[in-house]
Amino acid sequence: MFKPKRIIFEKGTLDTPMGKDIYNYAKEHKDIEIITISSNQVKGHIPGENLHDQYREGKQTLVVGIKKSLKFQSCKPSAHYQLPLVSGCMGRCEYCYLNTQLGDKPFVRVYVNIEDILGQAKKYLEERLPDTTIFEGAATSDPIPVEPYTHSLRRTIEFFANEEKGRFRFVTKYNDVDELLDINHNNHTEIRFSINTPRVIDTYEHHTASSEKRIEAAAKVAKAGYQVGFIIAPVFIYDGWQEEYKKLIQTIKYKLPKDFSEEIIFEVISHRYTTKAKNRILEIFPETTLPMSDENRKFKYGQFGYGKYVYTKEELSEMKELFKTEIEKVFPNSNIKYII
Ligand code: SF4
Repeated sequence: MFKPKRIIFEKGTLDTPMGKDIYNYAKEHKDIEIITISSNQVKGHIPGENLHDQYREGKQTLVVGIKKSLKFQSCKPSAHYQLPLVSGCMGRCEYCYLNTQLGDKPFVRVYVNIEDILGQAKKYLEERLPDTTIFEGAATSDPIPVEPYTHSLRRTIEFFANEEKGRFRFVTKYNDVDELLDINHNNHTEIRFSINTPRVIDTYEHHTASSEKRIEAAAKVAKAGYQVGFIIAPVFIYDGWQEEYKKLIQTIKYKLPKDFSEEIIFEVISHRYTTKAKNRILEIFPETTLPMSDENRKFKYGQFGYGKYVYTKEELSEMKELFKTEIEKVFPNSNIKYII
């Protein structure tokens, strides 16, 4: 759960039910600074002289706002639209792609006008009838750590449960799922867990839930009947990686309910980086040990005009073989969407 150092309430948010809930939460914690502002000048209230400090202060700031533009971004290929419930994330994963997306103060922002957002989702899905429309709730955020006081996911899952042609999915690196377990979700929501070996999580994924806690949370939502998926990413090659990733797959199997026989979706993504991301990471985490030596990687041209550094062809083939064999062996009913 995200306990921020400061919460900034933008104009009009304290009059809403969600704004009030968050305010009451803040009041119970004397160490949370409460700031109310009448403009949208959020950044002036977040300290920090340089990128290194601004990043850390931003990551401890929650902004409570109203989503004004209700034009949803597309989210191809995994969904039709992004569902903007939250932006930003409390996590401090060294490799996170949001590091290059969220500017110099990467605060978390939640939107109190959830009914407007869901109303807009309804318009989008009606436009596509009779086809089914899929909405992604974690395109630029991790919505789980703020759920205990926003209840946005609960409301959204309930909304989609009643939409015959609407589906909702999101991914998380956290475990605050308890309040989602009793919802009548009608099998219209898919919850994916981004997972990695304990070594990778401990080294690079700061302020996230442990591997064990994420797998326990996955077992809980599986038991509650949700469609469950795992994104194993980013996969790193290091001494002993084969054994540790195999063990990870076996641990997932061991922790899931014994009688769980539903299809499980797997997505596996190898580590890659762009020069822009690398430079940014080195500013925020000067001591990083992320493997980012260009000479050890293959440069691959990307579709948006910038290239990325990926593992070599031989390394990627070994990775693909290992994950395919192991996942199919341990989970005969799995659906491996891709290993890239
Ligand atoms: Fe980025 Fe996800 Fe880590 Fe948050 S949890 S910092 S969104 S990689």
